[in-house]
Amino acid sequence: MTEVIEKISKDTLATLTRDIERVFAVQMDNRYNIAATTAKQRIAKLKRLLEAIYRRREDIRQALHQDFKKPAAEVDISEIFAVTQEIKHAIKHLKRWMKPQRVKPTLTMMTTRSHIRYEPKGVVLIIAPWNYPFNLIFGPLATAIAAGNCAILKPSEFTPHTSALMKEMVNDLFPENEVALFEGDKQVAEILLRRPFHHIFFTGSPAVGRIIMRAAAEHLTTVTLELGGKSPVIIDESAAIKDAAEKLAAEKFFNAGQTCIAPDYIFVHQRHHEAFLKLLEQQIRSAYGQNPAEREASPYFARVINPEHFQRLSNMVEQALEKGARMVVGGKFNPEDNYIAPTVLTDLPEDTPLLQEEIFGPVLPVMPYEDLSTVLQFINGHPKPLALYVFSRRRKNIERIFANTSAGGSCINDSAVQFLHPNLPFGGINNSGFGNSHGFYGFRAFSHERAVLKQSIYSPFKLLSPPYTPRVQRLIDLVVKYL
Ligand code: NAD
Repeated sequence: MTEVIEKISKDTLATLTRDIERVFAVQMDNRYNIAATTAKQRIAKLKRLLEAIYRRREDIRQALHQDFKKPAAEVDISEIFAVTQEIKHAIKHLKRWMKPQRVKPTLTMMTTRSHIRYEPKGVVLIIAPWNYPFNLIFGPLATAIAAGNCAILKPSEFTPHTSALMKEMVNDLFPENEVALFEGDKQVAEILLRRPFHHIFFTGSPAVGRIIMRAAAEHLTTVTLELGGKSPVIIDESAAIKDAAEKLAAEKFFNAGQTCIAPDYIFVHQRHHEAFLKLLEQQIRSAYGQNPAEREASPYFARVINPEHFQRLSNMVEQALEKGARMVVGGKFNPEDNYIAPTVLTDLPEDTPLLQEEIFGPVLPVMPYEDLSTVLQFINGHPKPLALYVFSRRRKNIERIFANTSAGGSCINDSAVQFLHPNLPFGGINNSGFGNSHGFYGFRAFSHERAVLKQSIYSPFKLLSPPYTPRVQRLIDLVVKYL
């Protein structure tokens, strides 16, 4: 029996490999046709995609509910609006983005006219994680289309309903020599990664990001890596703590904490520590229910994606409690439904996994601090985060924090909403990734900035050509000295 299963899966894999090779080849053949499309033609495609998303809104909500009980309102905000906004923004600005950018000549370049031309990368691969499965496929796809590319998409295996729906939508909307989607796990990703793509846009964990970059190195393929990490929050002595508690509770427990830019842990000035914990608890009660049973029954709270992540999170909380952490609210775990209640812990020892690894779930450690230096030291003892948030009304503190840390992005007096600003680049730094997405930055990620210089017959460089007689050398000396 095992042999049969193995044989079938080997056959399936062989068919899939052939399919991938075929689709990649037809996209390679078609890439210059797609590259030659005008802004008007690309806008027409984006409008078709936009219209399909609006038409299938209810199906998208249902698929995400089936995958991890994501609340409909959260689907609307973070999967649908995030993508429709990206598409509308591209539609509005594409003509301008596509225009070649003139550059000024310098003295030695006086006889030239030059510009930067945004050339599509060609055939691109987009690999997405499970936590925002719709957003992280169709968002990058919108900018890849805007930039004039062909694209192959690989969503996560952990959201099968959303992936199947997206496949159906892609097949309805695009010929396969332009956009195609392959479902499956890392085996499928590995087959895809053997192809010499012109760009890989990967969203996922830093561990898999390394694998992607290694595979890309084989073909010297450029990469955008949108990775994760531990995003800290600092609430200083001057902060409006009620406002901070309201925003942070909503943004942390959105998608059950499974957000790359979710507040991972909080340092709050000791003057506010106990009051802030109370406010957080109140906020959790008013958002999801007054008691544990009500909160578990709340339709406004998603589930953890699968038993493995459920177990990982339960272990992390258990270890923290064993080492003396205090549970402020939450702590209910139901394995039957992968339910973990919105949980806040405090008084955690520094070496507990909750303070060392990315949490990526509805568990929030809150630590008091007295001296900002210790907070900065803690943050800088970890890899550079995807986001860092500061709640403060004191400019000096904000500046000190920014000057002494590095992060992909930041909010002052809020968290996570930077993702939704289409004029800001979205991306990480080092361990949290590199390259940017969103708006013009997404268009750029999928474009090559080709330098084009037009020379006249009066090029001054002719005077610097061999033979390098003493007269030519004197001219070269003047250029080196004065220009
Ligand atoms: P993951 O890295 O496990 O998987 C992401 C994708 O990579 C999936 O499609 C998966 O099938 C594929 N994959 C897995 N193993 C692979 C391998 N060995 N070779 C090739 N492909 C492989 O990530 P995840 O668990 O789906 O998502 C969670 C992570 O994503 C978190 O670290 C989170 O912070 C990060 N994330 C980042 C952003 C961002 O925009 N920066 C957004 C969402 C999630």
